Amino acid sequence: MSTFSLDPGPDQIAVRDWLHGFAADVVRPAAAEWDEREETPWPIIQEAAKLGIYSLDFYAQQYFDPSGVGIPIAMEELFWGDAGIGLSIVGTTLAAVAVLANGTDEQIGTWAPQMFGTPDDVKVAAFCSSEPDAGSDVSALRTRAVYEEATDEWVLNGTKTWATNGGIAAVHVVVATVDPALGARGQASFVVPPGTPGLSQGQKFKKHGIRASHTAEVVLDGVRVPGHCLLGGKEKLDERLARAREGVRKSGRNAAMATFEASRPAVGAQAIGIARAAYEVALDYAKTRVQFGRPIIDNQGVAFQLADMKTRIDAARLLVWRASWMAATNQPFTSAEGSMSKLYAGETAKWVTAQAMQILGGNGFTREYPVERMHRDSAIYSIFEGTSEIQRLVIARAVSGLPIR
Ligand SMILES: Cc1cc2nc3c(=O)[nH]c(=O)nc-3n(C[C@H](O)[C@H](O)[C@H](O)COP(=O)(O)OP(=O)(O)OC[C@H]3O[C@@H](n4cnc5c(N)ncnc54)[C@H](O)[C@@H]3O)c2cc1C
Repeated sequence: MSTFSLDPGPDQIAVRDWLHGFAADVVRPAAAEWDEREETPWPIIQEAAKLGIYSLDFYAQQYFDPSGVGIPIAMEELFWGDAGIGLSIVGTTLAAVAVLANGTDEQIGTWAPQMFGTPDDVKVAAFCSSEPDAGSDVSALRTRAVYEEATDEWVLNGTKTWATNGGIAAVHVVVATVDPALGARGQASFVVPPGTPGLSQGQKFKKHGIRASHTAEVVLDGVRVPGHCLLGGKEKLDERLARAREGVRKSGRNAAMATFEASRPAVGAQAIGIARAAYEVALDYAKTRVQFGRPIIDNQGVAFQLADMKTRIDAARLLVWRASWMAATNQPFTSAEGSMSKLYAGETAKWVTAQAMQILGGNGFTREYPVERMHRDSAIYSIFEGTSEIQRLVIARAVSGLPIR
């Protein structure tokens, strides 16, 4: 088992510095423009692909880093650059993680490369779980998957919502119910290959933050996918359904939850990137803004605010790195450590960016300075990948052993 260390090795430091350069030179200068355009920044994704930052190889390398901190370090640096562009670059990984968490080796080998495309022809992928009536309550999914024995095909029907890259993705991973009577235990994940008829984009949402990231409904109207598109395979699904029908509780995990559990610390790291960015802007500003004949940081009221911001950011990073290390060393989240990390980092990003706006005064409230955008971007971190309330629910259940509602 890899020992937990707060000192990333030379490889991780090299990756961090490389990504920081890309975030500072390419992402940050483009952030305001793509936020205003509210469009996927394809040229930046392409540039990231050419440099090897947007590629299956890069994320696989970080994902399988034995220390576990490869992914959090990468996420923090990219999102320090900008969260909307950052999510456009890493949104594909949520779908990739769904395939990694639920798929066979053959499925991983087939679909993961198609999610990223090539540097000359970049693609993105989407993970579609949420529905209009099934957000926090993933057991309420209505999208149906019905197996047709004669053709060995699955037929998908339903409407997904809030899908990052939904409709513009090459590969969509769709969570659907195979047996509605079994609730969350009757669900499975399916790959919808590029160009499959019947899948279309519904409305694209105009959002408060992370506006460079595309979020849309995905409509599935008689979508037919071959049998091999069921992640994990039919035999495994049939066994799982049989166990569920007999009432045997082998594991409480379902397809969507397996994806979210694996990705929560990474999402926490994104939030830390935003918080760190806002803190740095506020620290610089407080040192140079003069009022009453002295820099505003000379006032304890302001300096203590910055002290608290830095303390919370570092505390959040420790929780994220611990959870990432536990996941990499196959230790179960017995106290919902993944949820703890996402909860604390998400709330920290919201709080820190609000403090940063306050320190910048009127300037903080304008789009002339980046903290206004960072504050808007941070707000999603208490909502997606499980709201803060749902993270608290998961932690409370884990630590109490009780079915807290
Ligand atoms: C920009 C964006 C991108 C997204 N990307 C994706 C994606 O790529 N794929 C995907 O599948 N989904 C995605 N989502 C969906 C996201 O995960 C959901 O919005 C989130 O899970 C919350 O669901 P909901 O919006 O339906 O809120 P609801 O579940 O309706 O919750 C509303 C409020 O009620 C609270 N609440 C609900 N139940 C409880 C309870 N039991 N106890 C206490 N409080 C409770 C919630 O915490 C929240 O405050 C995205 C969402 C957004 C906004």
